[in-house]
Amino acid sequence: MYEETEHRTTISFYQYFTVTEPKQFRDELYIALNELKVFGRIYIAQEGINAQISVPDSNWEKLKTYLHSLEPFKNLRLNVAVDDDGKSFWVLKIKVRDKIVADGINDPSFNMENKGKYVNAAQMNELLQDENTVVIDMRNHYEYEVGHFVKALEIPSDTFREQLPMAVEMMKDRKDKNIIMYCTGGIRCEKASAYMLHHGFNNVFHLEGGVINYARQAKEAGLESKFIGKNFVFDDRLGERITDDVIAVCHQCGKPADTHTNCLNDGCHLLFIQCEACAEKFQGCCSDECQEVYNLPLETQKEMRKGIDKGNQVFNKSKQRLRPKLNEIRKDL
Ligand SMILES: [Zn+2]
Ligand SMILES: [Zn+2]
Repeated sequence: MYEETEHRTTISFYQYFTVTEPKQFRDELYIALNELKVFGRIYIAQEGINAQISVPDSNWEKLKTYLHSLEPFKNLRLNVAVDDDGKSFWVLKIKVRDKIVADGINDPSFNMENKGKYVNAAQMNELLQDENTVVIDMRNHYEYEVGHFVKALEIPSDTFREQLPMAVEMMKDRKDKNIIMYCTGGIRCEKASAYMLHHGFNNVFHLEGGVINYARQAKEAGLESKFIGKNFVFDDRLGERITDDVIAVCHQCGKPADTHTNCLNDGCHLLFIQCEACAEKFQGCCSDECQEVYNLPLETQKEMRKGIDKGNQVFNKSKQRLRPKLNEIRKDL
């Protein structure tokens, strides 16, 4: 493994723009970033780029200059990860994909050229005052469950590709409304806004940089947060508290709670919400059954997983629809 002592900064960015030759662009980018000792994971598609990378601190300025020198990246927003030790990646991987966000759209006349208008935190708050505004949450159920914008509509599906046509259907009689779409980091709602415009909606907005950027901006400008509860993010805390409101309940006892956890039975690992009392009572497990397994000797647990592997997967899949396993949804980011 590559030995390095210098501190790294982890950043993420995405940009929708037309990439005519994705393979060629990939190769050029690889050479330039490799020279700056950048590690990470980048996806390139004809519709744009999505990147999570780390750079040694001494090359940070050079990286910024390089990226902003590329025409499509003139106004690129680079998101610096706050709680990160810079050790998320050890190699640089740049892959060409069909899409940067899987959307299930087969319509060849759809493209990302025509997008909704960006709103920042202040504009978001202002638009929310307007009775003519509808806010649509483009995230998954478990994210909405612990935190969302006041009055935000949830689209009851766990996949983005299903949510897109559902949003159109839900809003079909309200084409004159201001529609604001949002997601965690902006990449999903930006595409959703283009999809709505493509389907004949006129006043479509999307929250620039998503909930993460909104929370930061609102804090810096001292604005009231219209996002209540927690913003679910994929770090060890499984969420950043935005306001003190606890809007979800414990999946076991029904009392107010908004702490996500993974069931400690390794054969289950279900992502669910558990209050402190239940965490103690069930020893961090999601059910009596899992707790029973959890308290067996490790060897016995391993044996059991071997035996019921197949049945277990099927069982988990049905549960996963509502509360997926963290390590599986992470890929979707
Ligand atoms: Zn509980
Ligand atoms: Zn369990």
